[in-house]
Amino acid sequence: MQPANKINSFEAIVHRLKKTLPDSIETYHTNQTSTYPLIKIVLGKGNPQRVLISAGIHGDEPGSVESLLSFLQDEHYLPYINKWEITLLPCINPHGYEFGTRENHQGKDLNRLFKVDEPPIEVFFAQSILSIPFELTIELHEDNESTGYYLYQKGIDAKDDELGIEILDAIKNIMPINLDDEIDGSSANHGVIGKNIDISSMDWWPMALYGFSKGVERCLTLETASQFDMATRVNAHLTAIKTALNYFSNKR
Ligand SMILES: [Zn+2]
Repeated sequence: MQPANKINSFEAIVHRLKKTLPDSIETYHTNQTSTYPLIKIVLGKGNPQRVLISAGIHGDEPGSVESLLSFLQDEHYLPYINKWEITLLPCINPHGYEFGTRENHQGKDLNRLFKVDEPPIEVFFAQSILSIPFELTIELHEDNESTGYYLYQKGIDAKDDELGIEILDAIKNIMPINLDDEIDGSSANHGVIGKNIDISSMDWWPMALYGFSKGVERCLTLETASQFDMATRVNAHLTAIKTALNYFSNKR
């Protein structure tokens, strides 16, 4: 089941990244001819606070990739670069991104495959990065059915649950918040989905819960709403990223 046409260019993404940050890009090449180089960027190497920001695990969510590129190109990282080591995965599912599919070239939903014995190469790549603990992970998504912004959060310290509320508070003037009691099958509270679940009992893990199993203090999965224009979606995600980084900067 191969989609007919490319709707986005991964090469254009690589080109934009190289223009912005020529020295900090690492690519991971696979032996599989059907996959693309997987890209990792590290800014502020060796700094004491560590965050992982990722996008494009679902290929049909271009607003996530665009937000991460804007974070780099418009230098939104600058206020954080003295304290934070910022690791970025700008496009985890390049094939899906090019062809506009949620799944990868094998038809696999990568964000369901973080608890399997032999994960797809894209998942293995993300897992290898999570082998060193992060204080914070931020995963960028978008939802084409949602009426507004919402997020998932999971963390070690319950006190940090206030961060989810703080993020949505910062966004509400940019994009409406999805206030449904149930979003995508999960119960939600004013746009926050906090999975109060013992992850060891789950059959599958998304990337966020894999990170949590590896000791990430706070895992955020952010969902912007595709029905708004790209600039609004990007603005909402950038505001969320900055709110989270400010929160943890002030905590230390
Ligand atoms: Zn998604």
